[in-house]
Amino acid sequence: MTSTVFTGIAELVTNDEHLEGADQSEHLGRLRNAAVIVQDGLIAWVGPASRAPEADGRRDLGGRAVIPGFVDSHSHLVFAGDRSAEFAARMTGVRYDGAGIANSVWATRAASDDDLRALVGVRIEEMRGQGTTTVEIKSGYGLNVDDEARSLRIAAEFTSETTFLGAHVVPPEYVDRRAEYVDLVTGEMLSACAPHARWIDVFCEPRSPHAFTEDEARVVLSAGRDAGLGLRVHGNQLGPGPGVRLAVEMGAASVDHCTFLSEADIEALAAASDTTVATLLPGAEFSTRSRYPDARRLFDAGVSIALATDCNPGTCYSSSIPFVLALAVREMGLTPAEALRAATVGSAKSLRRNDIGVVRPGNRADLAVLDAPSYLHLSYRPGVPIASTLEERGRHGS
Ligand SMILES: [Zn+2]
Repeated sequence: MTSTVFTGIAELVTNDEHLEGADQSEHLGRLRNAAVIVQDGLIAWVGPASRAPEADGRRDLGGRAVIPGFVDSHSHLVFAGDRSAEFAARMTGVRYDGAGIANSVWATRAASDDDLRALVGVRIEEMRGQGTTTVEIKSGYGLNVDDEARSLRIAAEFTSETTFLGAHVVPPEYVDRRAEYVDLVTGEMLSACAPHARWIDVFCEPRSPHAFTEDEARVVLSAGRDAGLGLRVHGNQLGPGPGVRLAVEMGAASVDHCTFLSEADIEALAAASDTTVATLLPGAEFSTRSRYPDARRLFDAGVSIALATDCNPGTCYSSSIPFVLALAVREMGLTPAEALRAATVGSAKSLRRNDIGVVRPGNRADLAVLDAPSYLHLSYRPGVPIASTLEERGRHGS
């Protein structure tokens, strides 16, 4: 039981709306010249440095800002292969429709366990180096029983937030037998994967011939729920569609993308804001040169919003939440504070977690440190690597 007091915090963003003496503008629960005591991986005390109690150890962060570690609630990190040529083709006008996923499937099936594990490890390190302390990882590039199950086994070595996405696309070998593939996903594949997964997800996009219709998605989600998994949905990414409506109807924790929404979709999300979070993934719109979701309108309507990377080989090969924040502020009309809350306490909510995303006693000591005096620098200095986790910083000695 050793405790460490962290001082030299020019600005501490806690997201704690009840913190005494904090600046509560935009609900950030901000303290200047703050201290935090960490004990056994948990927050033990938060307050002004001048009132900090004694601890076993002491570390001075040198006038930096400290924020809740980023919660990246949507990623597809278990894959092999390279799709940079597909990106280049897209930049010359080729449209994205999900067809390229099959290329990742071939490469992932061909990779050894050790190779896949190493690839995921590198990607997780990359995320930590940019301030991410929690990551959700989906399967979805195996698309057969053995490769989906091993994708989840490997993901579970890195995070407890694992998501079974056997219903990512219909794999090429089932193209003329869609119903058989849905049977496989909801039967044998689900049985093999559920022990390694907390969530189930489906790419519900009737516009794409590779993704799943509303009826197929409902069958997949129902089976996952019966197997004890929480529900997540990829919806309304490529055009208007039933994904959001279905997610709300089924009480999913998150519906992700939400790029093309109707008035009714927004009303449904606002009414379900305690249950279902709209997770926005603007890195995907950036990398597919598509229009961005209307975050401002969602926020003003009272929808619960999260921001995540969607880190994946096809539509957004970026592991950077700071990049996502910069996009959300510059392109989607969120304030820097709204964007920061969406990528921390907002994405924690989309994972139904309240032990992360808010810096308060009893919560996990998942913190990010910025080489800057204020959180504002996250979107003010795009592309500059100012964020890392407190743990990473400790390892590198500053
Ligand atoms: Zn995704």
